[in-house]
Amino acid sequence: MKGFWRKLVEKFSAGGGERVDWEALLLEADLGLALTGRLTRMLSEEGLLRKPPEGEERIRQELRSILAGDPPKVAHSEKPVVILLVGVNGGGKTTTAAKLAFRYGKEGKRVVLAAADTFRAAAVEQLEAWARRIGTLFVAGNPGADPASVAYRAHAQAEEEKADLLIVDTAGRLATKNNLMLEAAKIRRTLAKRDPQAPHHVWLVVDGTVGSNALSQATEFHRAVGLSGLIVTKLDGSAKGGMIAAVKEELGLPTVFVGIGEKLEDLEEFDADRYVDEFFG
Ligand code: GDP
Repeated sequence: MKGFWRKLVEKFSAGGGERVDWEALLLEADLGLALTGRLTRMLSEEGLLRKPPEGEERIRQELRSILAGDPPKVAHSEKPVVILLVGVNGGGKTTTAAKLAFRYGKEGKRVVLAAADTFRAAAVEQLEAWARRIGTLFVAGNPGADPASVAYRAHAQAEEEKADLLIVDTAGRLATKNNLMLEAAKIRRTLAKRDPQAPHHVWLVVDGTVGSNALSQATEFHRAVGLSGLIVTKLDGSAKGGMIAAVKEELGLPTVFVGIGEKLEDLEEFDADRYVDEFFG
């Protein structure tokens, strides 16, 4: 993520660096239309359009304030705490499910990993391999089974095993995108039948390198399933990360974790101050 801001400032500067095309710059930093519009208006109203260093400082302040607040924590509860992971294929959902299981397992939590993707056998095998490596309990359905029934059974098993945490990985590709959303919503309703509090967290796993497209994915999933947060992956690559602020601004959804590599350890709690520093770094 680091280093892109300076390049964009150079790219969109004119007149010896005295004038900056803020709108183009902020859009290219993946801050999305709405937030870009608001920040540009703010700079204009405060007379900072022609004062690049002050303008940048003002944007920095504003991003900090948008991202303020503690990310949701996985609390302790009588029944297993349920995390439902949704998102489109390739975003890193399966890897993230494993990273979460690894992380919470290391904290001493008893974790059940469930593969509620009965459409793609390879996805189930991939998660099972991770589960074996981490040494965590694993539940999956037969190919073609109803994913919601897999989630239901996984919850029953998690209760039986007195697990602290159930992490449910869902399908990322179906015949149509609409079905994908409907399926995730059905899994959500089915889990609530086992425990009205469940799922306690519904996190969208999204590839940070897709830029502002992440905002449209978040909007669609939020409308269909109801999200409580985001996990943004691949921030170790070319991602600019502006959509983390755009999603918080437009949908009020916090980023909970960020993925910074392919290994189990490569998942970090989102830290707003660090994010803002790296954004401008
Ligand atoms: P899914 O289709 O959403 O389940 O995605 P996968 O978990 O299979 O991940 C897709 C690819 O992205 C795999 O090659 C992962 O190793 C890779 N990946 C996942 N998270 C990260 C990350 O944070 N950084 C990098 N560099 N690669 C990642």
